[in-house]
Amino acid sequence: MQINIKGIVQGVGFRPFVYNLAKKHNLLGYVLNDTSGVFIEVEGEKSSINQFLETIRDQPPPQAVIFEMESHGIEPKGFEDFVIRKSEEQEEKFVPISPEIATCEECLSELFDPNDRRYRYPFINCTNCGPRFTIVKDIPYDRKFTTMAPFIMCEKCQAEYDDPGDRRFHAQPNACPVCGPSLSLLNHERVVIDVPDVITEVCTLLRAGKIVAIKGLGGYHLACDAQNEDAVSRLRSRKYREYKPFAIMVKDIETAKRLCYLNEEEEKLLKGTIRPIVLLRKRPDCPVAEDVAPHQHYHGIMLPYTPLHNLIVAESGLVLVMTSGNISSEPIVYHDNEAFGRLKNIADFYLVHNREIHIRTDDSVFRVWRGKEVALRRARGYAPYPLLLSFQCEEQILACGAELKNTFCLTRGNYAFMSHHIGDLENLETLTSFEEGVEHFKRIFNIEPAFVAYDLHPEYLSTKYALSLEDIQKIGVQHHHAHIISCMADNGIDGEVIGVSFDGTGYGTDGKIWGGEFLVCDYSAFKRVAHLEYTPLPGGERAIKEPWRMAASFLNRIYGDRMLDLDIDFIKSLDRNKWATIKKMIDKGLNSPMTSSAGRLFDAVSALLGIRKEVYYEGQAAIELEMTAGHADLTYPFYLKELGNKTEVILEPLIKGIVSDIASGVAVEAISSQFHNTFSEIILQLCLKIRQANGIERVVLSGGVFQNTLLLDKTFALLDASGFEVYTHHRVPTNDGGIALGQAIIANELIKKGIV
Ligand code: ZN
Ligand code: ZN
Ligand code: FE
Repeated sequence: MQINIKGIVQGVGFRPFVYNLAKKHNLLGYVLNDTSGVFIEVEGEKSSINQFLETIRDQPPPQAVIFEMESHGIEPKGFEDFVIRKSEEQEEKFVPISPEIATCEECLSELFDPNDRRYRYPFINCTNCGPRFTIVKDIPYDRKFTTMAPFIMCEKCQAEYDDPGDRRFHAQPNACPVCGPSLSLLNHERVVIDVPDVITEVCTLLRAGKIVAIKGLGGYHLACDAQNEDAVSRLRSRKYREYKPFAIMVKDIETAKRLCYLNEEEEKLLKGTIRPIVLLRKRPDCPVAEDVAPHQHYHGIMLPYTPLHNLIVAESGLVLVMTSGNISSEPIVYHDNEAFGRLKNIADFYLVHNREIHIRTDDSVFRVWRGKEVALRRARGYAPYPLLLSFQCEEQILACGAELKNTFCLTRGNYAFMSHHIGDLENLETLTSFEEGVEHFKRIFNIEPAFVAYDLHPEYLSTKYALSLEDIQKIGVQHHHAHIISCMADNGIDGEVIGVSFDGTGYGTDGKIWGGEFLVCDYSAFKRVAHLEYTPLPGGERAIKEPWRMAASFLNRIYGDRMLDLDIDFIKSLDRNKWATIKKMIDKGLNSPMTSSAGRLFDAVSALLGIRKEVYYEGQAAIELEMTAGHADLTYPFYLKELGNKTEVILEPLIKGIVSDIASGVAVEAISSQFHNTFSEIILQLCLKIRQANGIERVVLSGGVFQNTLLLDKTFALLDASGFEVYTHHRVPTNDGGIALGQAIIANELIKKGIV
């Protein structure tokens, strides 16, 4: 019998598992890795073969994921033994590669066992754990094609590697203190410090409040003692990251529980084999410096996922800030020379090692919502694991994504390979990272796309990249349509839906900036049936960084010059000269595009309430507005205006309501809550209206605004109570990190229907 297995079956101990299983059932034949997965030929008792197949299917090794398994009978060849044969290299190279896997229990117990030969060895790993995607240069997944190639295994390591009964059989990154990578500690001047024990020294430095750049799996982290106020503020000011929260690493679940509240699902996610950063609600007595996550109700917490991290958190006894090694919005640093250059004004010391990182990968960020994992940033541990589509893509497609939180996506058959989080495509560094990422994915998954999908925004670097490609068909996809389809694919649904797509910015088919959109759509087309009314965005990009401009723009539309007489703090503190200039811009239509953005409305309300008039990171004003919300049952008024076959949501009564509440001294907490209620009510009213006209029961919620869990909770509850089937994001981010997947699916549908 011949058996073909496809999926994540290489580099996860699959062949020794098959070998031992065959021996157990007295089967003869062989197993090998081929370039599409694992291939097995077996002979023996029929009932034994059936049991053999069943066990492979139902109880594969912990890190293996079987996508397809196919078997058929052939004439017996009279094998005399069961063996593991050498890999075959074929023309059609294609094997999904496993993401990184956190250090397993067995490796951990060896790591802390003084009698083990890998005691305190920071690069211990086995077939069940360790680096994968970040060290792979080419396929097949074999040591010579990884950044472990320069390390020649010692006799003991080689013996483990060759022994099918060993946990390290064909563990490609296998290493020990004798033959493997090693650590060095450098001071600020990049001089190697000679100390008896690097890890002990690093722990001492961290305890003394120093900032240490630590080379990890997918890049450098900047670490310091999270309970040391002074160290945290120093890191914050050196990183030019005024308010954006820092992630924290704690040694175990018990420590996480001292900092934050966590439920069963959150605990499971934290200590699983992936170990993303999980957003958890802070306890009031959380012992971490306020500056770690200012103005936030949440901390991003992760458990150690490499042996090095395990050693540092265990031996230092500290709760550590572990934030990406970069300056503000640049991508995470992953090469040593880059670290010495770009982190030189931040880090006091560098903890480096000589295992090269081939592809930079940030930590993934998740939260748990209604008992399920929700991706906010999909990177380490998830990429390059593909999403399985419920249909086949006839053509290979590259989708370039959007601009902020960029990811790209490549399709092959029913696999959608979503890239790791690339970052904000706003500078050369990130663009290079994007371009290299695309080439790397094409190579390791053997994909040569015939089509490229891109966002309609002419200024996005991802769009410019797509349009610059030669010999490839190009398909432009509207941003909000892509959001909705990404959420549909995430949930495995197709057909026609009501799409509620709320975000900060997306280029509309009328050349305006959309972002508060109600679509009726399927995979191939959308109809924009309703949207928030258009308001000028004075200064374009500047208005995104300065939400007070948007607040003033709303007031100007509603009150005209009388806005200056309003008895509210926002007006009293308004810089009249600046405003005069901006008003001129609006009046003349200079650099003041019209926008229906929901994100900008949240910004405006945040500024009106005096919560945040200028932001230091994307979404800050809206996040702080959410964090301020108390409890209110009321809603503000709004009305719907019919315009041809489209409905506009008129916000004038809402803004007036807020202004009047501010003027009469209503608490900011109550206003914020009432604003959130109103927003959910707007969504409900429009969905009811669309259902009445089109009979569609399914509502898909997507776009960055739905990262706001308060809004999501309220909206979900209202829609659910009205009998809608509501779909939200889980594996794919609701923010622009999901756009590429939507683009790929829409492009595929257009190709299939012959529209392009
Ligand atoms: Zn292990
Ligand atoms: Zn060795
Ligand atoms: Fe968006």
